[in-house]
Amino acid sequence: MADRKTFFVDVLLPLPLPGRFTYRVPQEMENEIAVGKRVVVPFGKNKIYAGLVVSIHENAPASYIVKYISGIIDERPIVNALQLQFWLWMSNYYMCSEGEVMLSALPSAFRLSSETKIILNPDFDGDISVLNENEILIAQALYNKPELEIAEVQKITGLQKTFSLIKNLREKNVILVQEEVNERYKPKTETHVRLTETYRNEENLKTLFDTLERKAVKQLKLLMAFLHYSRQQKTDALKRADLLKLADSSAAHLQALVKKEVFEIFEQTTSRLQTYAQTHEVEQIQLSDVQAEALQKIHNSFAEKSVTLLHGVTSSGKTELYIKLIEEQIKNGKQVLYLLPEIALTAQIINRLRKYFGDKVGVYHSKYSDSERVEIWNAILPDENKKGPKYQIILGARSALFLPFENLGLIIIDEEHETTFKQFDPAPRYNARDSAIYLAQQHHAKVLLGSATPSIESYFNATTGKYGFVELLTRYNNMQLPEVMVADLKEETRRKTMSSHFSSLLMKYIEEALANKEQIILFQNRRGFSVRLECEICNFMPECKNCDVTLTYHKHINQLKCHYCGYSIHIPEKCPKCGNPSLKMKGFGTEKIEDELSIFFPNARIARMDLDTTRSKNAYHDLISDFEEKKIDILVGTQMVTKGLDFDNVSVVGILNADNMITFPDFRSYERSFQLMSQVSGRAGRKNKRGTVIIQTFNPYYQVIRDVIDHNYTGMVTSQLPDRQVFKYPPYYRLIELTVKHKDPDLLNEAASELGKMLRKHFDKRVLGPEFPLISRIQNQYLKTFLIKLERNSDIGGMKKILHATLLEFSQIPKYKAVRVVIDVDPQ
Ligand code: ADP
Ligand code: ZN
Repeated sequence: MADRKTFFVDVLLPLPLPGRFTYRVPQEMENEIAVGKRVVVPFGKNKIYAGLVVSIHENAPASYIVKYISGIIDERPIVNALQLQFWLWMSNYYMCSEGEVMLSALPSAFRLSSETKIILNPDFDGDISVLNENEILIAQALYNKPELEIAEVQKITGLQKTFSLIKNLREKNVILVQEEVNERYKPKTETHVRLTETYRNEENLKTLFDTLERKAVKQLKLLMAFLHYSRQQKTDALKRADLLKLADSSAAHLQALVKKEVFEIFEQTTSRLQTYAQTHEVEQIQLSDVQAEALQKIHNSFAEKSVTLLHGVTSSGKTELYIKLIEEQIKNGKQVLYLLPEIALTAQIINRLRKYFGDKVGVYHSKYSDSERVEIWNAILPDENKKGPKYQIILGARSALFLPFENLGLIIIDEEHETTFKQFDPAPRYNARDSAIYLAQQHHAKVLLGSATPSIESYFNATTGKYGFVELLTRYNNMQLPEVMVADLKEETRRKTMSSHFSSLLMKYIEEALANKEQIILFQNRRGFSVRLECEICNFMPECKNCDVTLTYHKHINQLKCHYCGYSIHIPEKCPKCGNPSLKMKGFGTEKIEDELSIFFPNARIARMDLDTTRSKNAYHDLISDFEEKKIDILVGTQMVTKGLDFDNVSVVGILNADNMITFPDFRSYERSFQLMSQVSGRAGRKNKRGTVIIQTFNPYYQVIRDVIDHNYTGMVTSQLPDRQVFKYPPYYRLIELTVKHKDPDLLNEAASELGKMLRKHFDKRVLGPEFPLISRIQNQYLKTFLIKLERNSDIGGMKKILHATLLEFSQIPKYKAVRVVIDVDPQ
């Protein structure tokens, strides 16, 4: 026994605690232990968790007694070394714990703990207007505390039975439920039928035919059907249910044949993932000359730089270039990750890729169930004798970054300017575009960023030589970009030519399009009906009691509602402040537009696409396919209608109110308005004729509107860059935002100013704040924010370390123990 080695493992626990935890490996597990496997470990007084092994070593911790791991869950590692390195990078860069990264990275079926616990769904969009009171309480609690146990849920809601509440929250994608330890992910199995050994022999089969023909015609029919379909499908087993249906036979007949030992029944694991064969012969894409030239430039650029920006106008054929690039990677046996904003992951793009790559394409996004995620995860793992599809191309939303890739050759980030690539809550608050660049580096892979309206940051990187840069500035087939016109609302109001919210110019084009049986998209940057209620006498507006915002009117429930916490009230009959009965609706949203349109165009088929109409799983796809099939004439929508869709019959796009996005107080609002307006314009006139875009505004002379009219992307950038430099914003500076939260405003003020002092000691003038943000109270928590601006070329890593230490010091001040500080690196 003399010099036996003792092994220890460092594990990550699925908890937002900093650091790794060391455990001892019992001798009998030494051969089985491996980095990337999950192990069962005791934690705290009597808790058990599934931790993930991140390293194995022989260094006994000096300061405490190490507990033993109590079991190994996985036969094979579920996470590879590159992923662990990626998580570590992410936790350093975005200043969160590795445990938090792991929580976002692993499908929740992989995360186990001793009691059922619930956590916030990383894909929850924060829209709590669909939740009831108890559901909001839980969502709220989960913002403050990363996970809750059943007992806590009971305490918070006062409910004894909480399962239906938890089920509903889960269905609404607000929470994830963590499974129990040892209840592993269970593959789905299906019953199959095949011939027994005896009857796989032709002779025996013949004899059987004769017997059955005389005595059991129905059984014979079933047997014949089996032979027919199994030959047709080139398989030796059929699914029991399929066979009975195809043979139009009963279970009793099948049973009889099983008894006679003609058939045997067995269970086979099937994949939940559908398989898609390449539907027909792949048509070769014939690139146009400009497209071919752009492809060549991308190749040249990849020879020198790892990241390349493709600035290609809408409908220029960026997708065709992506397909060519993917093809090359596949030939070389490499994996490809194709990232899109969640909402752009439509059947359109998926079908387009499947047409070329068949079942090599896997899809991964938040509408997928946890079991589906686990299967996709497994379908990428390099696994010898695996059933089901083996994906080489993953099309996914931001969380697809975390899949267990082994040899990525290329990452495509389409619509790279989209802000939804950034995860807002909870930590890690990562930007998938930026993180993808690190991921690609790990694999020595290339990154292609694509957009018709690149982010200023990426454009800056591309034009200053950090990234390669390729432009594709003409539409495919030399289609013209749409003609953009402005409807001057001030002028039209003066002349009384407005029809409610529609200018005469827009009305004229809608009428024309309808007459020509062409389609129309109307974009309104807000949801709800009339945005708010206001007293005509004293200008009082009903506000939320928990948050610092005015309430929004929702017609279908006839209530005023808070979009931040879900608080709602009935419409007051008179002004609560001055008693006057003349309360008036102010502003307008998609629901109201839809209503009014039906009055002006009673014969048009009108539909609305916004968060309210697309809650159910298929609603979004259904709306899009109805629109594609021309079952809808006018589609009214929010941001959702701007996302990369390719319709061929849209002749008019109307932007109903450009002003509210342009004047939004944010340093990016100019850039964002340009992107939104250009993207929605891009939906006009795609295939056979030049489209028309009408922008309604009270101020036609905004420079950004001029830039949209002229399709002047570079004009937009060159007008913005000097401001960014002068006011110290990206791309010249990196931002870190800190949000300090507490329910007592006085304590918050005191804590924030103390933190301010501590921060200034190190960062001096780079610190702005504390300030009340635009919305200074949410769910009864008061907020104050700091903005730290770091010079682009300074030692950002070093400064983050100092910041980390400062925040640690602050959190140890007893008075401020309950004050939370949320860190957002590179806020959007
Ligand atoms: P983008 O992604 O840049 O908006 P798309 O790739 O969607 O542009 O192309 C716009 C339309 O033009 C699509 O319907 C696409 O099928 C078609 N298209 C583009 N390039 C080609 C090509 N080389 N051959 C055939 N069709 C093309
Ligand atoms: Zn509220």
